[in-house]
Amino acid sequence: MDRPSDPPESCPTCGVAYDSVSVHDAGLAVNLLDNERYRRVCFEPVAGDGGEALVEFYHHTHEQVDAGEG
Ligand SMILES: [Zn+2]
Repeated sequence: MDRPSDPPESCPTCGVAYDSVSVHDAGLAVNLLDNERYRRVCFEPVAGDGGEALVEFYHHTHEQVDAGEG
C-alpha cells in the first residue's frame, strides 16, 4: 500500500471529498458492508512512474457521501 505523490482535493471518480487514498498494484478484497467509518471506496486506475498499472482507492466516510450527494 502506498500513497499518491500529488493527491487531488476530491475523488476523481465521483467528485466527492474523501477521507484517505491509497495506491495498490495487486488485487485485494474490500468489504464495506456495515462498515462504521466508510460508506464507499472508489477505484481510479492510474499509471505509475514507470508506466505500470496501479489503482488508487478513495475512501469516503458516511458523512462525506451524504454531504456530497445531498
Ligand atoms: Zn469517489
